[in-house]
Amino acid sequence: MAMADVSLLRPGMAVVLGLPFDGNSSFMRGPADAPAAIRAALHSGSGNYCCENGLDLETAPGWIDAGDVDHGEGAEPFTAIEHGVARILDTGARMFALGGDHSVTLPLLRAHARRYGPLDVLHLDAHADLYDELDGNRWSHATPMLRALEEGLVGRLVQAGIRTLRPVDRERASHHGIEVLEMRHWRPAWRPSFEGPIYLSLDLDCLDPAFAPGVSHHEPGGFSTRDVIGIIQQLPRPLLGADLVELNPRRDSTGISTMVAVKLLKEILANMLG
Ligand code: MN
Ligand code: MN
Repeated sequence: MAMADVSLLRPGMAVVLGLPFDGNSSFMRGPADAPAAIRAALHSGSGNYCCENGLDLETAPGWIDAGDVDHGEGAEPFTAIEHGVARILDTGARMFALGGDHSVTLPLLRAHARRYGPLDVLHLDAHADLYDELDGNRWSHATPMLRALEEGLVGRLVQAGIRTLRPVDRERASHHGIEVLEMRHWRPAWRPSFEGPIYLSLDLDCLDPAFAPGVSHHEPGGFSTRDVIGIIQQLPRPLLGADLVELNPRRDSTGISTMVAVKLLKEILANMLG
């Protein structure tokens, strides 16, 4: 699937964009299959297209699936992703990306920061993604939040769901002023407080693997599906941009994790169209 003609886009439109890239995964491959799996599940007839607020995505104007970013033969994938997203943002439309592994968030934040300036980011994840490198790879899916901070792309970074902090991550969080809400301290009444528009980066492994086992890194003790829906429904509207990453369909034997991703996609679109 190739990226759609940007002449179809209008200011304020929400544009779903697939990023079938998992070249910076560390433990296993598979997230490159996620955009196609999410689309197939959304259109499978298993459920309808209604968000919980009643918005019917089958008939709602204002959003479009623009297909996938074509990484090209031998092209630097981050460059292709950043340029593809910049073309969308240049029209005044807003982007909702389906990863891919979490490394794609770095080029997404680059494109958004270029247009909007330093971003307030809500990052939901089991992992802080503050590695300097993993297996010698500075662009690993374990590094995007540290790289984004180093590049000055982020104003406020609020992380929730985190349950794998190393001592060095705590030092980095303190050094960079990251607001980390560890999962052990999280309570269902928590709602993130933001002054203005935010960017949402949602790693599916923020959920407990009992709810979404189709991820590369099983980290028990996470959010329920309802917890994450509750957080999304309380976010400021509309989101500046969003990504949903790290679904690994190869590990999703029952398909339930893909349906969780579809559910979260619907609720994120409800925010962006609300
Ligand atoms: Mn992550
Ligand atoms: Mn993660």
